[in-house]
Amino acid sequence: MGRQFFVGGNFKMNGSVDTIKSIVNNLNQAKVDPNVEVVIAPPALYLLLTREHLRPGLEVAAQNVFDKPNGAFTGEISATQLKESNITWTLTGHSERRVILKETDDFIASKTKTALDNGLGVILCIGETLEQREANKTIEVVTNQLRAVAKQVQDWSKVVIAYEPVWAIGTGKVATTEQAQEVHAAIREYLTKEVSQTASDNTRIIYGGSVSEKNCNELAKEKDIDGFLVGGASLKPAFVDIINAQS
Ligand code: PEP
Repeated sequence: MGRQFFVGGNFKMNGSVDTIKSIVNNLNQAKVDPNVEVVIAPPALYLLLTREHLRPGLEVAAQNVFDKPNGAFTGEISATQLKESNITWTLTGHSERRVILKETDDFIASKTKTALDNGLGVILCIGETLEQREANKTIEVVTNQLRAVAKQVQDWSKVVIAYEPVWAIGTGKVATTEQAQEVHAAIREYLTKEVSQTASDNTRIIYGGSVSEKNCNELAKEKDIDGFLVGGASLKPAFVDIINAQS
């Protein structure tokens, strides 16, 4: 069986009760390809509202999770709390958290493991900065980010890897299909060599970075691109076109 196309929407710190209800209503009514797995990630404050209004079959993700079960961790949310609230996915390792909040590879790995251990699916974000790409370090950087996770995680069946070049996020500068495919293929090769053939065959590797209704069809044709993580465009009606990029 092939890998199911996966499209995530990361709202980041955007939205209000009214705009999120309107995005959800739009998705509920849209003709969404039933073969695509769709997961949206609103800000934490709106997770329950989103789950309550979003139609069954479409899933909700947190943008972040903590790596401890409970306790004195002000401002954090645990994987068990998410699970109990029917929030079935979480992002980990988004570049905005890596860069702005200084999250390390090991911390991200620990959060990924805790989320998986508690039954959540994880959209694990990895990617290089422009400086790293220009220094020809892209594959080394993404491989190191993956290796930190592989040290703690054995079962990759509920992991979706989002390759998001940092220079393409929110910049309007999308990676070319060749650039994206090259890194996706390298990620798959890494999984074959250092995790398992099963993980390599079955793990969805999705692309993120200025994906829009204009560039999604070409990207979706690439052999190792199994979907998208969409930021800015996930707040717009055109998100539906991106979900349906393969149809
Ligand atoms: C993201 O936030 O993960 C992202 C890819 O953002 P954008 O689509 O706006 O570049």
